[in-house]
Amino acid sequence: MVYLLVFASKKSISLRTPICNFDAMNGILCPQCESKLDQGKLTKADVAASIKLVKLSQKIPQIDKFTLNSCRQSHGDYVLYLGSQDIMTIRQSRELYRILQGEFDGKIWLVHQDSDDKKLIEDVFFPIKILGINQVWAPGGMQKTKVIVSGRKTPRFPIDVDKVVAIAHDLRKIDLVVEFERK
Ligand SMILES: [Zn+2]
Repeated sequence: MVYLLVFASKKSISLRTPICNFDAMNGILCPQCESKLDQGKLTKADVAASIKLVKLSQKIPQIDKFTLNSCRQSHGDYVLYLGSQDIMTIRQSRELYRILQGEFDGKIWLVHQDSDDKKLIEDVFFPIKILGINQVWAPGGMQKTKVIVSGRKTPRFPIDVDKVVAIAHDLRKIDLVVEFERK
């Protein structure tokens, strides 16, 4: 009976997250999700992001349509893997981005779910245009991924390049070298 009341008191949600909606709404994991967390199939960041998004989805209809595939914490920031349409929606609304960012204590990076390395790099540099992504061999036989960014680096460049390099290495073991088109 108590179970039914909890359901009735909250609007049903269509948002999809890596944990059950019921868990996300109530901030407690069911035994199934709990065991996924223990086995490492879910991370604490997945759980925390799911709870935050469900909370927002109650007030913001656009967020209710999202699919959060997963969330990774890296170097104090959060990488949110979302559906393509969701990323497009957020990129079109500064307000929505601000609301979403406001929920996290580190910067959020929006990445398309199932993105390959190239797509991930493009996503973390958005809205900066990437001219090329190439594999290069550094002295000592180390393979690196060179990214050539359009234009030149100005003090107003909006992306923290060092953070991007650190996150790409942490999440994908990509050794990024970032170069600007013009010096
Ligand atoms: Zn669950």
